[in-house]
Amino acid sequence: MSARILIVDDIPANVKVLEARLLAEYFQVISASNGPDALEACEKGLCDIVLLDVMMPGMDGFEVCERLKANPATRHIPIVMVTALDQPEDRLQGLRAGADDFLTKPVSELALITRVKSLARLKLLTDELRMRVDTGADSAAITELIAASEEKAERQASILLIDDNASSYERIVRSLAKEHSVDVVTQSQDALFKAADGGHDVIVVSLAIKNSDALRFCSQLRSLERTRQTPIIIITGENEEARLIRGLDLGVNDYIHRPVDGNELLARVRTQMRRKAFTDALRSSMQATVEMAVTDGLTGLFNRRYFDSHLATILNRATARRKPLTVLLTDIDHFKSVNDTYGHQAGDDVLKEFAERIKRNIRTVDLACRYGGEEFAIVMPDTDMALAKVVAERLRVEIASHPFIIDGGKQQIPVTVSLGLASLGEKLENVDGLVHRADTALYEAKRNGRNQVQIAKAA
Ligand code: GH3
Ligand code: MG
Ligand code: MG
Repeated sequence: MSARILIVDDIPANVKVLEARLLAEYFQVISASNGPDALEACEKGLCDIVLLDVMMPGMDGFEVCERLKANPATRHIPIVMVTALDQPEDRLQGLRAGADDFLTKPVSELALITRVKSLARLKLLTDELRMRVDTGADSAAITELIAASEEKAERQASILLIDDNASSYERIVRSLAKEHSVDVVTQSQDALFKAADGGHDVIVVSLAIKNSDALRFCSQLRSLERTRQTPIIIITGENEEARLIRGLDLGVNDYIHRPVDGNELLARVRTQMRRKAFTDALRSSMQATVEMAVTDGLTGLFNRRYFDSHLATILNRATARRKPLTVLLTDIDHFKSVNDTYGHQAGDDVLKEFAERIKRNIRTVDLACRYGGEEFAIVMPDTDMALAKVVAERLRVEIASHPFIIDGGKQQIPVTVSLGLASLGEKLENVDGLVHRADTALYEAKRNGRNQVQIAKAA
């Protein structure tokens, strides 16, 4: 996941430290040394997440945060406030200003990366929904869906807390109860029954519970149908980094360190509520999309119409953010003879199986479409030519090396495909130009003998 992070800090050395760590995790980083510059960068849509220093001369972090959250153009950008460890009241003020999360100086590497990843996931979801508003045939319905999920994320949450230390859970309940309703359970067995009843918006688990393994409990939650999607936040102590990382691997969504800061926990719960609401909304918008007849009946991939409108948006976004984007066009070789030899029905089955193999070989953010009869298109955001070549070659081999088994195993049909790739380059280019170059490369692959990948010349 490659998100663009804006670091706002008046001290260059602080920027350098954060920047180095984020770059090491392949995030893209830009920086601003004061509030007004930060506002401008956000307004221009240059970043996905803001790391915001509180103490800055002139406009301080709280004011920057308030302004970003008051502006409809920037309010969906997640903000992490970077506060001093000895200033817990900063967090309260940050929360009031609309901050989405907090980090304390000196910033721990794991905390930084977990925070940023968690918020990048949220941002990806909101962007995806907002983009559907821009392109969708039924944007009114999706706008409504976004508003409804924002509302849903703001309502009182029902939280299940698993903690067997009375003084610990009493404090946590006091903080959470300001905004939410909390069920406390001290035994993980009871907790599992309670969780399986469903109805909880967030589950908070102390890693320190005795007599049972908190991580095993988390993994059980992830395998139960009723709780598979429920956000889990774990509470960790000092020197528990190894278990924490295992927890995150198991699918735990977030964590918080002891001693638990109430405001920090409230912020994390809110982020998880939002993420859940947007994921649900995205899922139902997917269903709506299907109903909007933008998919191809035979293969279940998106159709040409959806491809045309969606690619324009993706291309504009990539251009504005200077991110790579690659389009792949692929066409089945000598498909006419498949029809002629095995019949039209067999031809249809080959098309379906081809679509399945495409789906298995791309990421969820890639957009696969049936472009025409036996021609398909894959749009790969955030993907440069070097990476796209690997994807294309993998797909080619995946087709050529396993014959298509159809008619319940009665027929084995060898199939090959030709592929053409075109990436956005230095020069400004529109959808027609990019697709035309991919098409020319595909033609080149056909002319050169088929069953191969060809790359378009630069625009
Ligand atoms: P090339 O390697 O040059 O691409 O050769 P080709 O035979 O694949 O290309 P051509 O464009 O000559 O033929 C494409 C064939 O695909 C003709 C058409 O009947 C068939 N076709 C298009 N859509 C469908 C479909 O939905 N189902 C089936 N069974 N066949 C289809
Ligand atoms: Mg063909
Ligand atoms: Mg053709």
